[in-house]
Amino acid sequence: MVKISGIILVIVIAVVIISVFSLSPKLVLEKKEETINVFDNFEDIYYSATSFGKDVTDQVVKDGVVDTEHVGKYIITYSVKNMFFKTKKTLTVNVIDNVSPELNLIGDNDYNVCSLDTYIEPGYTALDNYDGDITNNVEKNFINDNEIEYKVSDASNNTSKQVRKLIVGDKKKPDIKLKGNDVLYITKGSAYKESGATASDNCDGDLTKGINIEGKVNTSKKGTYEIKYSVKDSSGNEASITRKVIVQDKKSSSKTTNDNTPVTTTNTTGVIYLTFDDGPGSFTNKILDILKKNDIKATFFVTMAGSNDVLRREFDEGHTIGLHTATHVYKQIYASIDSYFDDLNRVSNRVQSITGKETKFIRFPGGTSNHVSAVGMSNIVREVNAKGYTYFDWNLSVEDAGECAYKKDKKTCVVNNFKKYLKPNKVNMVLMHDIKSYTANGLEEMINYAKERNYTFKQIDDSTEPVQFKPYR
Ligand code: ZN
Repeated sequence: MVKISGIILVIVIAVVIISVFSLSPKLVLEKKEETINVFDNFEDIYYSATSFGKDVTDQVVKDGVVDTEHVGKYIITYSVKNMFFKTKKTLTVNVIDNVSPELNLIGDNDYNVCSLDTYIEPGYTALDNYDGDITNNVEKNFINDNEIEYKVSDASNNTSKQVRKLIVGDKKKPDIKLKGNDVLYITKGSAYKESGATASDNCDGDLTKGINIEGKVNTSKKGTYEIKYSVKDSSGNEASITRKVIVQDKKSSSKTTNDNTPVTTTNTTGVIYLTFDDGPGSFTNKILDILKKNDIKATFFVTMAGSNDVLRREFDEGHTIGLHTATHVYKQIYASIDSYFDDLNRVSNRVQSITGKETKFIRFPGGTSNHVSAVGMSNIVREVNAKGYTYFDWNLSVEDAGECAYKKDKKTCVVNNFKKYLKPNKVNMVLMHDIKSYTANGLEEMINYAKERNYTFKQIDDSTEPVQFKPYR
């Protein structure tokens, strides 16, 4: 009896359990686990529910949220019930970051250095889609003697690598500069005094003593003579420059130019410094072509814009590179002395990484006369001077970023301003922008105008007397 009633009890319990299960609603989830990338949308999975054979999907209640902006594990609960019973299932959503950081080297991956021990790290940046700026986490290691491996991982262990190969040797030609004017006028019968040239090399240093001078001036005969100065560095890279010496009659002669204005061909002392801000830009190559054709050296106050190749071309073709700004955002630059130098150092590092040379010439964004500086320009000027920089304002603006930018014929406006403000009895420090098409288009006309009037073009160097606005705030 006991045995039989025991068996019956087990059967009854089994029946009860089975019927309870069959009374509970049925809930089907497409999957138990889902993985999405951070910042992507979470799209709900497919699910369905039935109760006593009836579709009750629309009665499913979902609970829980997925924060797609943050990496993590999120649980969503799906539940559905009928009169007596409830069925519950969960979905696990993993929000992950599987995007590698962007690791960028400042300066080229194939990097020229004179020797391994003179290598100065040009810098790098690492930005992650999720962690933000992780430049400080970059690890640098020498591999194979002359290769540097840069490695950075984000918090989710996504790793990026870069390799910089140091190419040892002197690949740059020396920098040779004339002392005195590149075009010299002397009166027939007077003596020609050789004022020489200076040369320096990125690897060998001062090479002035090795300059070879060729050419002769016959001062008893009218004519144009060329003196060639050339120098070689220890790796055989050669550079040269020429000076034109024009021997002419005593009296100054007059000639007529295109626009019928009589000009004096002698006794002009006017000097022009062409300076270009805000580049390199789309029109810099055109400007460089014109300068090359006319054998003129200019000064470029550069930014972070444009290609490294164009900046390198400015340098390789012997122009002076100065520093303008990294951001050109006045409020940010002039918020404090520190922020000013943060901005300046960025563009300085760029120049150094491309040219291998530090430049100490600067032009303040907006000039020293800007009214933006929160700390006062006099304080910034003091710091800048203390750090050995020389800043250059201007005394001739062609207004290519000013009034001419709003004129219909922008090129004519720029050229006219140049002609109007150019003065023979002063050093003309000309402000231009190599990011303006009309400045590039008008440049040759400006150069011709000045050449016809015997102006001398110069580039900023250590001997240049700076033009500086005074007083400033
Ligand atoms: Zn500017």
